[in-house]
Amino acid sequence: MPAERTDSDSRKLLRRLRDVLGTKAQGQDRLDQITHLIADSIGTEVCSIYLFRDGDTLELCATEGLKKAAVHMTRMKLGEGLVGRVAKTGLPINTADAPSEKGFRYMPETGEELFSSFLGVPIQRVSEKLGVLVVQSKDARAYSEDEIYALEIVAMVLAEMAELGAFASDGESVGALHRQPVLFRGSTGQEGACEGRVWLHEPRVVVTNPVADDPLFEMDRIREAVGVLRVSVDDLLAAESLDKEQKAVLEAYRMFAHSRGWLRRMEEDIASGLSAEAAVEKEQSAARSRLEQVPDAYLRERLQDLDDLSNRLLRILTGQGKDTGAQMPENPVLVARNIGPAELLEYGRKLKGVVLEEGSVGSHAAIVARALSIPMVIHAEKITHEALNGNAILVDGDQGVVHLRPEDTVARSFRDKIAMQAKAMQRYSSLRDLPAITRDGVRIGLQMNAGLMADLPSLEGSGAEGVGLFRTELQFLVRNHMPRRDELAVLYKRVIEAAKGRPVAFRTLDIGSDKVLPYMKPQDEPNPAMGWRAIRVGLDKPGVLRMQLQALIRASAGRPLSVMFPFVSEHGEFLESRSHMLRELHREKSLGHPVPERLEIGAMLETPSLAYAPDAFFEMADFISIGGNDLKQFFFAADRENERVRKRYDTLNASFLTFLQFIVARCAASNTRLSFCGEDAGRPIEAVAFAAIGLRHLSMRPASIGPVKELLRKIDLAEARSVIETARSAGAGTIRPALTDWLAKQGI
Ligand code: PEP
Ligand code: MG
Repeated sequence: MPAERTDSDSRKLLRRLRDVLGTKAQGQDRLDQITHLIADSIGTEVCSIYLFRDGDTLELCATEGLKKAAVHMTRMKLGEGLVGRVAKTGLPINTADAPSEKGFRYMPETGEELFSSFLGVPIQRVSEKLGVLVVQSKDARAYSEDEIYALEIVAMVLAEMAELGAFASDGESVGALHRQPVLFRGSTGQEGACEGRVWLHEPRVVVTNPVADDPLFEMDRIREAVGVLRVSVDDLLAAESLDKEQKAVLEAYRMFAHSRGWLRRMEEDIASGLSAEAAVEKEQSAARSRLEQVPDAYLRERLQDLDDLSNRLLRILTGQGKDTGAQMPENPVLVARNIGPAELLEYGRKLKGVVLEEGSVGSHAAIVARALSIPMVIHAEKITHEALNGNAILVDGDQGVVHLRPEDTVARSFRDKIAMQAKAMQRYSSLRDLPAITRDGVRIGLQMNAGLMADLPSLEGSGAEGVGLFRTELQFLVRNHMPRRDELAVLYKRVIEAAKGRPVAFRTLDIGSDKVLPYMKPQDEPNPAMGWRAIRVGLDKPGVLRMQLQALIRASAGRPLSVMFPFVSEHGEFLESRSHMLRELHREKSLGHPVPERLEIGAMLETPSLAYAPDAFFEMADFISIGGNDLKQFFFAADRENERVRKRYDTLNASFLTFLQFIVARCAASNTRLSFCGEDAGRPIEAVAFAAIGLRHLSMRPASIGPVKELLRKIDLAEARSVIETARSAGAGTIRPALTDWLAKQGI
């Protein structure tokens, strides 16, 4: 490689590469031409391109200088040999004496033992590893910084070409990026299965020309775009309503945006022949690879900031906003890194499914997906890098699995699964008007959980006997301002009317923890789930609570009203909440508004402490609803949002059931109506166990009512109870196996 390569040499090479892209050649021919061009242009004996076959295996796809017979034969695992190491770290390897380099793997079929010096650079686009570009020479020499840089520039152009599908052949023998089937194993956000086409919430920016025709023009473009970016970040920082964390993130953005080194490096890339867009991506990839090596967790977290910032810059440069003008496909499945509840609601029922890279089961997006009955998979790692708009996708919300661009056989068996589910739905709807009554004649009341207007149609369709939990905070969360009393009254009225005389238990605002209102000052708490949330906020700042209670009274317009307070931890909190309710009732009456003909005031039992409250509490509460999601997290001290610990403790754990049974006994002693409204009530086996230990009211998402009812109607509850008791006295940790065996023996 001649040391005195100039920018114009580099630009000439890039232009020749681009011309290859413009030809009608097959992918393999293009790769062959490219390796020839690079070796010729930069004067090395060998130039080879290795591309990923799958996430873990690299394959020699083209070479100039090594034995041709090795092409598509030589493969290595990620991290294996020098090539594998470049791919793994995303950093170049430059050595004058490759065979004595640590990790060198001898590949006799290539004939590479003739070549002493080795320079390998990653072919990567943003965080996506695509392959490795290698040059080798016989003479023992290390390549200069300039030469490494020149090869990185070439690799960047190759990455963009790969992204544009330039190397795919009909036979798919070479790195078929974004074409192969990929399986993602995530977690269940919402059960159900669907087949559809990918719709990216934030579409990838497509760079159609990685090579600069006019470097001066590209220079102006990048400077101007960085200027726009800086102003936009400064504007964001000037916003008043930022919390400490948001501020810290934006400060980091500003630091990157104003970094002179960043702009200078991009300018150098452009001088070497890259377009402004390709320069942004090159620096993004390089910084990523460097930061990924850093052991410091804080710095690694900043990767996300850097990505966001680079993406913003790319959008400014390409003019590709979120709305690219692309047509939403039929049966769209939303694919995103994460999404807020309001954005998800905006898409509404148009969506067939949702797949997120992040998210959590207890998040509001998950609650919205549940309300809309849309299958959802969370924690599908890196799917936004793989998926392209319009790709075929299968979402299995039950298993938390996603098939992207599935093989025909997979798609066929998946369709069978969907058909079976549809059949089950038919069965459930035939049960809709029948009671959930067990074989031994015990009737269990099944109600539904709701929180959005979108839930209301399910009241009719599901056969719910009422709304056992109406989460009022969702209406607060999906707005960008505090709703007014009249707005709320109208809304609650619609809910009451849609229920057509069936009871609705309105839960007052449960904010805090993960539910942060965009228009309220966020609290900086070390442990928000156990922090200032729910009724604690309501009692400390009663203005909103009182406004909400007034809205509820007005909405009832004289009809019966049921109100419950969330997260009550002690009798005193219930007393205080209740007296707010009574005071508002009195006030409304004195203002001449009609008051509910019957008012029920209940509490949610979500902390173990309330189970041990004095008898007076149980006597005073008109009803109690077990918020099993929270109760379980506090019983086991296992965060409901932390996937790792959440699944560790079974709801049918014998100790937890004993505890629930204790609550049942306390309510029975005071004759207080008790229901269970956590997510577990909607799982058929759990529902059987709850009924067996004495719960008579369960509230769940509408789609669960059918399956739960079907099972309850098939079983003998006294037998279920004795199965539980036998397993418990035998010392079982969880009674699940005993219950499932018992059901299986009956062919259920
Ligand atoms: C619960 O904790 O079980 C509950 C129903 O309330 P949320 O899920 O809204 O916290
Ligand atoms: Mg709760």
